Amino acid sequence: MGAIYGRERLLLENWKKAWKLKSVQVGAISAFFDVLILFAEQFLGVWNIIPQDLKDLIPEQWQEYVGIFVGVGIVLARLKKQPELHSDIQPFVTVTAGHSNKDPGAVNGKFKEAELVSQFRNAVAYYLREAGIQYKTDGVGTLNQDLNSAIKLIKGSSVAVEFHMNAAASKQANGVETIALPKDKKLAQALSKAVADAFGSRLRGDKGWIDQSQSARGKLGFISNGGLIVELGFISNEAELAQFNTRYWVAAKAVAHVFIDYEKRN
Ligand SMILES: [Zn+2]
Repeated sequence: MGAIYGRERLLLENWKKAWKLKSVQVGAISAFFDVLILFAEQFLGVWNIIPQDLKDLIPEQWQEYVGIFVGVGIVLARLKKQPELHSDIQPFVTVTAGHSNKDPGAVNGKFKEAELVSQFRNAVAYYLREAGIQYKTDGVGTLNQDLNSAIKLIKGSSVAVEFHMNAAASKQANGVETIALPKDKKLAQALSKAVADAFGSRLRGDKGWIDQSQSARGKLGFISNGGLIVELGFISNEAELAQFNTRYWVAAKAVAHVFIDYEKRN
């Protein structure tokens, strides 16, 4: 037992040493390239300001080598610039409408959930555009792409929200809720409050937040992929439907402001 332990320990020590050596080597190589790239940049900076007639004075037998050196310098300078380009990617908000042009969702008379939430998405997008916030949607105008297309827009976004309207057998059922993972609880509550205040509705769940695991709907693809679902009210409740139709621009503006604050903080 002891012998095996000792041998394993020795192996571990050797492995650690090898690893340390490797990381020192990698560090040295990367430092060497940093210096080389820096030198290449400096050289190109100087080279670019040398007048052509001065460059023409370089002896012919040197020109080939200078050409190669300039070429290598350009390649190295590009290597350096690449990571900066990647960090330049703008953060964006994803806003999508639940259901799709093929799946109307809940229906009350002539009103279809998929159409109402598309209008809401468009209004939120309008206010985000006005505030100069980058965003992606699952369509413009009446276009409402399906869930798979919406889920694809989540990746890379700083926040992704899909809008829905609730429906219940009881016409009395009412209120606003946002279903989200526990890490997004605060944001979920802020979104529900913004909507509820605009419509004069009450908050459902924990101050407007419903944990996906506690939701009767079970696991939702949009949320499992990092998004939040805002249920703007009950389409089956006549009073809430009427409030939605007359005041959805007000609620959309309030929701857009939650995103704007969120983007500024993160
Ligand atoms: Zn829905």
